[in-house]
Amino acid sequence: MNVILLGAPGSGKGTQAAKLVDTYAMVHISTGDMLRAAVSAGTTLGVEAKKYMDSGELVPDKMIIDLIKDRLGKDDTGGGFILDGFPRSTSQAIALDEQLAELSRSIDVAIAIDIDPETIVKRICSRRFCPACGRTTTASEGDTCIICGCKLEARADDKEEVVRKRLEVYEQSTAPLIDYYRGKGILHSIDGDRPVDTVWADVQKIVSGN
Ligand code: AMP
Repeated sequence: MNVILLGAPGSGKGTQAAKLVDTYAMVHISTGDMLRAAVSAGTTLGVEAKKYMDSGELVPDKMIIDLIKDRLGKDDTGGGFILDGFPRSTSQAIALDEQLAELSRSIDVAIAIDIDPETIVKRICSRRFCPACGRTTTASEGDTCIICGCKLEARADDKEEVVRKRLEVYEQSTAPLIDYYRGKGILHSIDGDRPVDTVWADVQKIVSGN
């Protein structure tokens, strides 16, 4: 099964994607994670992308589309994948359709996680990650990771003004994709402002076709 997770930044796409990976052994493809890895590695792509990421803007389509084309062409995606953070605009969605057609594949379901923007601002501003084990958590955990004891950090683009910019960009560029996938008859919307496991129960129902 091939799944697209749609939703504003901080809506819980990454959390639900991790559960899908654990339960269904699907491959998680997050363009945000791929770009952050490129930034950390200091590649040409990373240096260029960082300028856009730090200000909450979208990275130009050409960079992302090449990145995703390369990733979707890898053998491990054959057993099913989850796209998280891609596509983010109608032009990216059209490019994705073209790439999948070349690979004789398609998207089975698009799951839109709905959540109120002010809840998102609060949620993202308290988000922390562990640079050592990669785990995402919240500021309520304290300063150190409970798993490996490393100092927890906030993402550079999780500052309030950048979060508000990312939400604005989401409304303008990404929210129209909800209609795009509704038009294809594969859209499922779920309320993301509930406990993680309640949202997960809905995601599982959709993915298992119940
Ligand atoms: P995310 O972790 O998905 O919230 O992405 C973090 C940042 O990476 C975004 O604010 C964008 O600057 C960039 N980014 C991630 N995915 C895309 C995409 N599909 N198109 C353009 N920019 C992206």
